Amino acid sequence: MREREADVQDIARQVMMEMTGEPAAAVAIEQPSILLARDLMPSDVAGLDTAKVLGICLSEGGKTSHSAILARAMGIPALVKARGCLEQVTPGQMVTLDGFAGLLWFAPSAAVSAQLAAQRDAWQAEQHQAKQRALQHASTTDGISVSVLANIGGPDDVRKALDSGAEGVGLFRTEFLFQRSDSLPTEQEQFDVYCDIAAALGDQPLTIRSLDVGGDKPLAAFPMPSEDNPFLGVRGVRLCLKHPELLVTQLRAILRAHQQHRNIQLMIPMVARVDEVRHVKALLQREADALGLDASTLPVGIMIEVPAAVLNADALAAEVDFFSIGTNDLTQYVMAADRGNTELTDLINYFDPAVLRAIEMTCAAGGKAGIPVSMCGEMAGDPKATQQLLNIGLRKFSASASLLPALKAQIRQTAVMK
Ligand code: PEP
Ligand code: MG
Repeated sequence: MREREADVQDIARQVMMEMTGEPAAAVAIEQPSILLARDLMPSDVAGLDTAKVLGICLSEGGKTSHSAILARAMGIPALVKARGCLEQVTPGQMVTLDGFAGLLWFAPSAAVSAQLAAQRDAWQAEQHQAKQRALQHASTTDGISVSVLANIGGPDDVRKALDSGAEGVGLFRTEFLFQRSDSLPTEQEQFDVYCDIAAALGDQPLTIRSLDVGGDKPLAAFPMPSEDNPFLGVRGVRLCLKHPELLVTQLRAILRAHQQHRNIQLMIPMVARVDEVRHVKALLQREADALGLDASTLPVGIMIEVPAAVLNADALAAEVDFFSIGTNDLTQYVMAADRGNTELTDLINYFDPAVLRAIEMTCAAGGKAGIPVSMCGEMAGDPKATQQLLNIGLRKFSASASLLPALKAQIRQTAVMK
């Protein structure tokens, strides 16, 4: 908590500057240097020019402070808690910093400087290679091709997803559109967002999940009565079918966007039974007819996150174009353990044989029906699960952008056991 003190002070300082109209004094550095300071606010670090700041050395600070986290993310070697020595350094003096070992030399020998420079160059080359590798498609050591896509929450996530090597979006949680204001988004607002994201992805897929609220996700623009068991209540597709006005606007926006961007596909959450899928598809057809559009070209898939959907997977597979396994909810429902209850963390475990069996059954049903099966729950981005998921037959993973480079690296060093 003490290390977070700087964050509070930083915000207070920015609010005061805004109120008094005082301009922010950015840290100005003329030539490539090592920056020595007592401490730095996170906003100071965020504003640093990485071409000029070769390293940071602080007499205060902490390894897990936001300033240190930011410096790490920006690739600036940093040393913290270097107490009682920085005062000895005069501006312009040559110093050398080793961010790996946490050492600072006041009078470095040529040999030490050369060795550290070589270490830095090797690290930078490694980083560059990892980034380049993330942008390439991944296959296992035995040559099995695996698709890696991103989960996004809105348009702001798209750039990062692509830069991290995403080969499309496997899950777009559209809740943000509905939760950002007190009124429901219009058809045109939704259409614009869907088109923007689809265009940014080029011909890579954009999987738009229809509204998934209720349970742990309330909606200010559409207050819902409280339920005794919200996770077993009116959430996801159940809510949308009870209140079709929520869904119909979204379906129209998706149909229209798909008309211009063929990479769009629709995914329905919280499906348990075949009639729910048929009901959504009937609404989709009705709206397509009203708009004079062809609904048959829009791929429609479902999330598999309710045990009933696993057990009904054969029948469901006959109705849809793809499955995507939502292990966050699937784990909670298979284990009957609320995913947000910290008392039950040992039960909320996607490595439990029961959850693995449910995943296996879903992959088998998808395989039998010839439809693709992907996974978009947290498990998909966990490198510890990659081997098991590949063995089970999963070939499509969708996870947060920040996890994709490591996931691809893991796939590249895994062999599928047949
Ligand atoms: C899931 O349940 O695994 C999932 C991806 O959906 P959400 O986390 O949004 O419920
Ligand atoms: Mg879910």
